[in-house]
Amino acid sequence: MEELRIERRLIMTPGPVGIDPRVSQAMSSSILGQFDPDFTNIMNQTMEMIRASFMTKNKWSFPIDGTSRAGIEAVIASIVKPGDKVLVPIIGRFGQLLVELAERAGGEVHTIQRPMGEVFDQAEIIAALDEIQPKVLALVHGETSTGRMQPMDQLGKACKERGVFSVVDAVATYLGTVIPVDEWELDAVIGGAQKCLSIPSGITPITFNDRFAEEINKRKRVESGIRTAEDEADNPFITSNYLDLTQLQDYWSERRLNHHTEATVMMYALYQGLRLALEEGVEKRAQRHEYHHTALKKALKALGLTIYSDNHHEMKMVTCVEIPENLDGEAFRSGLLKEYGVEIASSFGALHGKIWRIGTMGYVVQKMNIVTFVTIFSAYLVNSGVKGLDPNAALRTLLTYYEKESY
Ligand SMILES: *Cc1c(COP(=O)(O)O)cnc(C)c1O
Repeated sequence: MEELRIERRLIMTPGPVGIDPRVSQAMSSSILGQFDPDFTNIMNQTMEMIRASFMTKNKWSFPIDGTSRAGIEAVIASIVKPGDKVLVPIIGRFGQLLVELAERAGGEVHTIQRPMGEVFDQAEIIAALDEIQPKVLALVHGETSTGRMQPMDQLGKACKERGVFSVVDAVATYLGTVIPVDEWELDAVIGGAQKCLSIPSGITPITFNDRFAEEINKRKRVESGIRTAEDEADNPFITSNYLDLTQLQDYWSERRLNHHTEATVMMYALYQGLRLALEEGVEKRAQRHEYHHTALKKALKALGLTIYSDNHHEMKMVTCVEIPENLDGEAFRSGLLKEYGVEIASSFGALHGKIWRIGTMGYVVQKMNIVTFVTIFSAYLVNSGVKGLDPNAALRTLLTYYEKESY
């Protein structure tokens, strides 16, 4: 077998994205046992940093071993039991994922939907809460498939007043914008690793409050083999073992009850990624994402392209741009990757072939990368035969913005 050889890439997609060398370095450290005090100390400090990242005092702030989908599934599988009503407002593909997970947990799922590229008025969602009276409201904060960010500062409170549990997929927006979990009174929120936090995929920070913990613990069952007399319970237990949050609570608290073996190297990555993000500052990091998002949009417009659903509740970490007419978007995308090592994303469903999604997430979001990207992308579009574009104007606009504006 040949030596593993990985070519350099400039990944401008909504994940996975490139990582800081300091994260890679942390990942090459020695393995520690999962109950080694040095390791449990790292676990505790990581929980502390997860709290800070979500701006919450929630005791229950720890990572799930698995990609973000595992984090979402852990939350849904623990809060939804067969027959529970779940309301899912859908603005794109990841809303459908919440439906899928809630259905698999046996939930009775109700959906409301907006056309692609739109978001809900919060009042519409609150009206649906009153009409459907679900146990759980599950929704996506940053809908990566359409590049929209759903406003939700009123929803947590509205849920609480109605005895509903709010669950938020903040995978794509986490540490790319400010998500004040306590201020917004959200019950359970799932972050992401391979998006704006910029570490490899495979571990997922989540947080949930005491109200949520109390509810899921009604279905707690400690697995046989480590169960004690105090753990005996006769209740309709959570059917997943690996993604059972109540058992994970025992692993991530004083009890340190054995569950799975923590993913050692991923913990190092998470620790280091969070440390770097908090050192930058949650607000400052959000400003950095917005600053470069604006830069990229200005450059693409000067180039002569059209931004999809411009200025309408845009995520600041993914820019959606319409594919020029008469161009095969997929052939262009694969050419860009093959010839120049630059990757952008297509989209799903009705938007596939209509828009490209250009991610500006985490570590990749630096002037040098954006300038490199705009240069190659523009020139390659012109060489692919797209007429009426002005790469000079794109670069001049970009550099002028960078020289005049700061964040
Ligand atoms: C990327 C993404 C996910 C899934 O994350 P994985 O790490 O691939 O499991 C879920 N929700 C949203 C909004 C995302 O952008």
